[in-house]
Amino acid sequence: ARFDTLPLDAKLLRAIVDAGYETMTPIQAKAIPIVLENRDVMGAAQTGTGKTAAFSLPLLQKMMRHENASASPARHPVRALVLAPTRELADQVAVNVKTYARHSQLRVACVFGGVDMNPQTAELKRGVEVLIATPGRLLDHIQLKNCNLGQVEYVVLDEADRMLDIGFLPDLQRILSYLPKARQTLLFSATFSPEIKKLAQSYLQDPILVEV
Ligand code: AMP
Repeated sequence: ARFDTLPLDAKLLRAIVDAGYETMTPIQAKAIPIVLENRDVMGAAQTGTGKTAAFSLPLLQKMMRHENASASPARHPVRALVLAPTRELADQVAVNVKTYARHSQLRVACVFGGVDMNPQTAELKRGVEVLIATPGRLLDHIQLKNCNLGQVEYVVLDEADRMLDIGFLPDLQRILSYLPKARQTLLFSATFSPEIKKLAQSYLQDPILVEV
């Protein structure tokens, strides 16, 4: 199906046209309406299936609902947090999300380890609504009070199986403990091991399983 059959803001549809997308991939067709309905999602999808747009387009849509030209809030609390296992994946997600958000006023930033913290700190302090992060570096920024996750409404655990393989479970548990309980949580994983199911049971509420 075409993207313009979805109830998406014209700014998002324009960004999709700019990106050259014509029709939705299967994960997008299945997941986008469910995410728009505020349901938690457990998505079985590998990289390359279009899963980044599947979770980020509906989240951007919901975040843009109150966007208007006159209101320029002095503060920009983090409202959506995407956790990814590696620097490469986080960067790839951020590049895509920035493309989809380009006509909106939403600020998108990405933090990962292995690089100087200072530019990331400066960006966080200016305020971002959508934050893409690897778990370890995010905890560093939390500890330094560079960002506050007390107003997060949407969380995405991207490539959750790889995050567990790397040993990020304790970091994930800590990060999730800082977030409001009332939120929407989306978990994507290529595989659904008992560990992933347990993670989902602990942190998702009544999730809908989306498989492609
Ligand atoms: P992802 O699985 O999110 O990493 O996406 C894989 C690649 O597919 C990215 O380069 C996207 O830009 C591209 N892509 C995502 N959705 C679509 C679509 N509906 N039509 C064409 N390309 C897409």
